[in-house]
Amino acid sequence: MRIGVLGAGQLGRMLALAGYPLAKTFVFYDMSGSPSAGLGEVIIDREGKYLDDFLSRVDRVTYEFEHLPVEVAEKLAKEKPVHPCPRALQVCQNREAEKTLFGELGIPTPDWKIADSAESLKAAAEELGCPVVAKSITEGYDGKGQAVLKSPDEAEAGWESIGHPRVIVEKFVNFHREVSIIAVRAEDGDVAFYPMAENTHHEGILRYSIAPAPGLAKHVQEDAERYIKALLNELNYVGVLTLELFETSEGLVANEMAPRVHNSGHWSIEGAMTSQFENHIRAVSGHPLGNVDARGLSCMINIIGEHGDIDRILELPYAHVHLYNKGERPGRKLGHVNILADSYEELVWRVRNCAQFLPGSPEFKSSLTAKG
Ligand code: AMP
Repeated sequence: MRIGVLGAGQLGRMLALAGYPLAKTFVFYDMSGSPSAGLGEVIIDREGKYLDDFLSRVDRVTYEFEHLPVEVAEKLAKEKPVHPCPRALQVCQNREAEKTLFGELGIPTPDWKIADSAESLKAAAEELGCPVVAKSITEGYDGKGQAVLKSPDEAEAGWESIGHPRVIVEKFVNFHREVSIIAVRAEDGDVAFYPMAENTHHEGILRYSIAPAPGLAKHVQEDAERYIKALLNELNYVGVLTLELFETSEGLVANEMAPRVHNSGHWSIEGAMTSQFENHIRAVSGHPLGNVDARGLSCMINIIGEHGDIDRILELPYAHVHLYNKGERPGRKLGHVNILADSYEELVWRVRNCAQFLPGSPEFKSSLTAKG
């Protein structure tokens, strides 16, 4: 079976690496002009001229990033199975549609309002009560196109800095930590849930994911499973879906979803019985899902900006290095290291030991280190 992947970055690369053992072949369709997957056949098409050519070479289509025109996915879906469905893309591309769907499905969100001018942003900030986070409705990711307002008087400056005609204004959530749940749904509707991960960001970029999230109450995992299952079923979704959440003293609050394999699931390559990448390939190919149980305790460390001393990391007996074949540039995701351990205590020192060889890594902070 030939799988067509829209996008040709590291997520596509890892999908292919997981798909080859199942005898899948891959064709990547790249609109950016700088594919990095480094595997399979790549069609570079900045002007959208070779979509038919791409389609003729594949049996099924999936995607590795969500910022592609919904019309492209819809056009493809008329000819070949496209998983996940174009509606999932549409919802994820628009924060207003996304939060509305969450609300309809009973998934808790921060209180929010829409603003389409500096004045309405100020009014929303007054009604919700500051601090609030204003985010552009579309085209935002990794904290870009956002402003935190500590007082309604900051509305004018916030509006200017976002520079977008429509923004969602959210009440600032006082969370204990950020977590995510990754689930996969098969063509026959079977669903499997990975153990949730605890995620630490630095300067808007994910740095560390620990899975299973330490000290997570069973009912919290169950709540997250209920929420993501509601989304999967509503969208008649096939493939891997990620839901990013805040854990608060009142329970989980949803932030956003991603219709694809996710950075907070990279731990699953060695840390789970079946990785998120293999399960995505299984699902979009119409196969049964694989076991999602954790093999032990994992922490994923992102390699950002510079590679550091990879050879020293390769010497560590508990570290698994994954490089994306990309050049160094500040803030760029170049690879990740998965650390495995039998106890959280052991995990912490192993992560610290590894992170010292990654010069761009912030100090390892998590719920595990906070207690000590
Ligand atoms: P996003 O682009 O929506 O994922 O937001 C990027 C980051 O901003 C999140 O990972 C949070 O750390 C923070 N953030 C976003 N929305 C809120 C909110 N309503 N309250 C508090 N922090 C937020």
